[in-house]
Amino acid sequence: MATTKVAIAPMKAAQIPKAGADFQIVEREIPNPGAGQVRIKVQACGVCHSDVLTKEGAWPGIQYPRVPGHEVAGIIDELGAGVSGRKKGQRVGVGWHGGHDGTCLSCRRGDFRNCQNLKIPGISYDGGYEQYMVAPVEALTSMPEGLSDVEAAPLLCAGITTYNALRHSGALPGDLVAVQGIGGLGHLGIQFGNKFGYKVAAIGRGSENSALAKKLGASVYIDSKSTNAAEALQKLGGAQVILATAPSSKAMSELFDGLGPNGKLMVIGVTSDPIEVTPIQLITGSRSIQGWASGTTADEEDTLRFAELSGVRPMIETYPLEKAGDAYARMMSGKARFRVVLTM
Ligand SMILES: [Zn+2]
Ligand SMILES: [Zn+2]
Repeated sequence: MATTKVAIAPMKAAQIPKAGADFQIVEREIPNPGAGQVRIKVQACGVCHSDVLTKEGAWPGIQYPRVPGHEVAGIIDELGAGVSGRKKGQRVGVGWHGGHDGTCLSCRRGDFRNCQNLKIPGISYDGGYEQYMVAPVEALTSMPEGLSDVEAAPLLCAGITTYNALRHSGALPGDLVAVQGIGGLGHLGIQFGNKFGYKVAAIGRGSENSALAKKLGASVYIDSKSTNAAEALQKLGGAQVILATAPSSKAMSELFDGLGPNGKLMVIGVTSDPIEVTPIQLITGSRSIQGWASGTTADEEDTLRFAELSGVRPMIETYPLEKAGDAYARMMSGKARFRVVLTM
């Protein structure tokens, strides 16, 4: 007797059908986890500017259709073969660090963050803009009880990036740390900097963010439109660290002279044009520039735990999954305050 396979399509996903195309809301079969993977019932997923890599096809080798999303909060719903140490019903997150091979030279040195075969959710495999996603077990982060899903999601990319960059910047409690840009990254950078015990100088364009920056924990607000921000930092003694979050290489270049001796420009705002700094600027005061990308799942757990303990929270706007296109457009407009989060 011939059997008819009935296609069941019980979940919704927001996918990009091809590079540069608009979001499509589609129905898909719920995916099954393979060996070493789990299935997650997604509760919330942050919309990050790096999702542009998926939307526009800017990542080499990306395959379509692809579901973006690397700020995922959810619940383990099914375990694949061979998975240990995790159980169904556990709250977990998945951030930018979406898996590593464990065998390349970087991994063998314990430097999983720089794995030569690093996987990124929403790029290497379907991410969190869907009701159920599958992720490798090494990409999972445990969720603390004190954070809701919508609060935790943005901490898995924007949060960890600012937290990890600052804690590895060399700044010590009491140091002057400038946070350039008051947006998705910057509003978290100010909070973390304040809770780390830094004297935080927030730098924005225009005076409108002054009150908010102070509310978030900045001691000083510098309006880079009306003042020379580098000179303003020097008047305060020079910054130990400038956390550059706004994607403007010109603004970063102009700020460099605000660094004090042994100061560091820590770059996390992504641009493709050059930062212009002369050797004289670097050599005088032994100053440096460093970039920082995200971190491992252990770093993610540190970020979440620290946020839970200290009260650092992202400011968010939520959209339902069906409005993923609107949510993405809102994020791209630069007007969101400050992270956009999809709910399922
Ligand atoms: Zn991101
Ligand atoms: Zn590796």
